[in-house]
Amino acid sequence: MENKDPLQHNCDHYDGHRYSDMKCRKYGDQEVDVCIVGVGAAGGVLAYELSKAGLQVVGIEAGPFWNPQTDFASDELHSYSLAWQDTRLSDGNDALKFGHNNSGRGVGGGTVHFTAVFYRFHENDFRVKTIDGVAEDWPISYYDLEPYYQKIENDIKVSGPKSLPWGTFQGPYPYPVREPLSANSQIFQEGCEIRGIRSSVTPLAILSAPFDGRPPCTNRGFCNEGCIPNAKFSTLIQHVPKAIQQGAEILTDSMVTSILTDKKGKVTGVEFVHDGQIYRQLARVVIVSAFAIETPRLLLNSATAQYPFGLANRSGLVGKNLMVHSGHDVFAKFDEEIRLYKGTPVMAFTQDFYASDPSRGFVRGYSLNAHGNRPVALAKNLAVDGGYWGKGLREVMLDFNFYGQVSLVGEVLPREENAVSLSNEKDEYGLPRPLIHFSYSENDNRLIKDAIQKANEILSARGGKPAFVIPDTGHVMGTCRMGIDPENSVVNGFCQSHDIPNLFICDSSVFVTSSGSNPTETIMAIAARTADYLANKMRQGPLA
Ligand SMILES: Cc1cc2nc3c(=O)[nH]c(=O)nc-3n(C[C@H](O)[C@H](O)[C@H](O)COP(=O)(O)OP(=O)(O)OC[C@H]3O[C@@H](n4cnc5c(N)ncnc54)[C@H](O)[C@@H]3O)c2cc1C
Ligand code: SF4
Repeated sequence: MENKDPLQHNCDHYDGHRYSDMKCRKYGDQEVDVCIVGVGAAGGVLAYELSKAGLQVVGIEAGPFWNPQTDFASDELHSYSLAWQDTRLSDGNDALKFGHNNSGRGVGGGTVHFTAVFYRFHENDFRVKTIDGVAEDWPISYYDLEPYYQKIENDIKVSGPKSLPWGTFQGPYPYPVREPLSANSQIFQEGCEIRGIRSSVTPLAILSAPFDGRPPCTNRGFCNEGCIPNAKFSTLIQHVPKAIQQGAEILTDSMVTSILTDKKGKVTGVEFVHDGQIYRQLARVVIVSAFAIETPRLLLNSATAQYPFGLANRSGLVGKNLMVHSGHDVFAKFDEEIRLYKGTPVMAFTQDFYASDPSRGFVRGYSLNAHGNRPVALAKNLAVDGGYWGKGLREVMLDFNFYGQVSLVGEVLPREENAVSLSNEKDEYGLPRPLIHFSYSENDNRLIKDAIQKANEILSARGGKPAFVIPDTGHVMGTCRMGIDPENSVVNGFCQSHDIPNLFICDSSVFVTSSGSNPTETIMAIAARTADYLANKMRQGPLA
């Protein structure tokens, strides 16, 4: 079916053209060039770039095709529906919690309800083994990604400062910084200045001026609820409509349950479930972009006689080396009102503690973000992780307006025992539920302690009284890392699996190390680079 809708951001993009009736599929049982599993941060970029390059693309997405104007609400509880809610089983000393704070479900994936903090990685993030003697080096350098970082920032008009004191890229950004700053970000910057710590306004994937039919941010702070006005970037409103305009088909509410292979061991397409029925999509190339938990789950579940340990798993590393960011929230109470709920959640940060410093007793480092919060999330986190209940919880919540908050994005090192595997429990699709094992290392714990101390110093310098710390994590990465050696990695530097040349894995699972930066700009830059590589390769003929 050819879609003749004009590209619109403020209407239900493709109502009536959602291909929800599987009989009206554009390609049906026909073999297409590329099938993308999961249309989130990476999948959206891939769908756009590959369809623009003239390839037939079908994206298959487990969740719905959200309409910001009718599906989102300025309501914390309502927004939980944007997240991946299926049960994930967790164990380990620091078992991870999943839900709203973790991954998305629906076109746009996690970008629909992410905070839009948009950092490039630093040059040293790609060379951790060389610099610090831990983990592994990436097979690519900062400079391989540099043109793609630039492209992504320009494509979505990242707003940010004219100059930054850290990292390889020090600005300027395409659009000016978002103003006004929240009170929480102001006190953060003032606290940093008193302590002699450099700070900056945060680069954000949020518009500070109109662009592409979208308005600038109104600063109401419902970014984690989905952004009704479309001022915040997501692949749902940016890349996917453009991909459809280029001819891509997006099949929604469709859960991919296995990747199909032929006798030669190449992939031939995928099987998926829509409305209780099983369908197939044949493709010359399959790209798995389903997030660092669902991607290894799908690869492991697609085991065959030829690949008894799952696809792309010669190294045995599919699912292994899972990383998160330590994301503890540090609170201090002020005499004046801060009102943490006001404005886009993060508007100031420091990366003064980002690189290794031998005097601290651990390697690698972290970013500190001035971080807003909302009452329901805070009450829930205090009760579940903060040790507050009953009267104590009520007292904290009565003082909600007086708290300032700083959150860390701490680098967590990869370790093989931190992993996603298949449990014995099945979900409604007959898929084994993922079992996630996670424990912090001694290095991770020392880093967290140092970061909490620095956050408290900043808040105290500005007059806050240290109040409480809520342990948290964010940004799941790793599980199918890239590398040069097929015995020691799952994909090459272009996200092509070492074992099966027409199977690609492209999302946060290919990360080798986690860095101290929020990851989405790097996920998207890697996806844009992978699309370039794949389009060129496919022009030359079948992938050998
Ligand atoms: C509350 C919150 C705040 C965040 N804030 C930031 C931030 O400020 N900055 C930042 O850089 N990052 C942030 N992130 C993280 C960011 O959202 C993720 O890093 C990013 O979305 C991961 O991209 P991905 O492509 O790997 O996966 P996703 O974007 O999660 O996309 C995967 C998609 O695959 C689909 N899928 C999964 N399994 C299947 C299957 N079997 N069949 C079909 N489809 C499937 C999912 O439904 C999903 O849509 C935040 C995340 C959350 C939840
Ligand atoms: S504060 Fe800005 S980016 Fe966040 S939801 Fe409101 S308009 Fe969107």
